[in-house]
Amino acid sequence: MQHTILVVLDTVDGGLTPTAAELIGAAAAVGAPAVVASRVDDADALGQLGAARVLVAPEGADAADAAQAAFDELGPDAVVFAHTIAGRDAAARFAVRVGRALLTDATGIRRDDQGIITDHSNYGGTYSAVAAATHLAPVITLRVGSVEARAEAVQPEVTELAVTPSGKRAAEVVSVERVERASSRPDLLTADKVVAGGVSLGSDDMFEELVGGLADALGAAVGATRSAVDEGQVPYEAQIGQTGVLISPKLYIGVGISGAVQHLVGMQTADTIVAINTDEDAPIFDIADFGIIGDIFDLVPEIIAEVERRASGEAEQ
Ligand SMILES: Cc1cc2nc3c(=O)[nH]c(=O)nc-3n(C[C@H](O)[C@H](O)[C@H](O)COP(=O)(O)OP(=O)(O)OC[C@H]3O[C@@H](n4cnc5c(N)ncnc54)[C@H](O)[C@@H]3O)c2cc1C
Repeated sequence: MQHTILVVLDTVDGGLTPTAAELIGAAAAVGAPAVVASRVDDADALGQLGAARVLVAPEGADAADAAQAAFDELGPDAVVFAHTIAGRDAAARFAVRVGRALLTDATGIRRDDQGIITDHSNYGGTYSAVAAATHLAPVITLRVGSVEARAEAVQPEVTELAVTPSGKRAAEVVSVERVERASSRPDLLTADKVVAGGVSLGSDDMFEELVGGLADALGAAVGATRSAVDEGQVPYEAQIGQTGVLISPKLYIGVGISGAVQHLVGMQTADTIVAINTDEDAPIFDIADFGIIGDIFDLVPEIIAEVERRASGEAEQ
């Protein structure tokens, strides 16, 4: 019998979270994914993503309560959440509640002969670690964008999940203000390509012209260092790193970024890293696949023009 891996998705209004395919893909590599969903309407889509079972929690159920109900019912080999703000919050509360080991920010989930193990990339990629719980099923948060494998579509078994509110304390959301995304650019957390800028851009106008311009030419998302955010060149949502988002795109381009370890922890697992900096000793060059030593104000407009020229050439063919 195939072992069950419980997947707890972040709740989003009116649809599936973009991380669903990745979480289910990672779970399917080590067992049969059973997914806690908040809407029965999502069951077919979850089956397409490879969910063998879909457990539909009542509307508004707390994620940790729902996870516990599914956990008690299924006795899974591991419980997987996304390493997002919501996922980390629910995973931590759930792990404390069930007394299980919490393996955070995993970049891969595998099995060895003793059970589930996870891969981790630490300190700007300086160290790779493999972790396992010494006993019982681990609770895992998976870094978004780190697993490419996707599961095959299946016809899921769909059941209702009875969730008894635990009454345990949880973060209480007292008000929600919807901020409409003004930008049509890809979402930073899930984008394949990211162009990130540093404080050396100097102003919000220049940040938008060079970093935003290169991102648009490539169809990429925009990211930034904390220093650029602190200087007001770009909103906090763009911050990559220890106190921002952790990303794992296929391509990361760092524009005038020094490569402080607090930034590197957020992007070091990108498949291909390109850095542009005047300082050949900038630490970002230590992890870059391609380094360009030069002035961003000279080079980036030329790169944008070249990318646009090639794109229009392709369009004409
Ligand atoms: C607790 C803590 C948490 C933090 N969290 C984060 C985080 O989540 N994310 C984060 O990014 N930082 C974080 N930081 C800040 C981090 O330590 C660095 O200060 C920050 O990442 C540096 O940003 P930067 O590369 O834009 O600036 P700098 O380090 O000042 O580097 C600017 C770079 O631009 C280059 N440059 C200048 N002019 C040009 C030019 N014309 N052309 C080309 N290159 C040029 C310079 O050579 C330099 O390398 C944190 C710090 C602390 C203490």
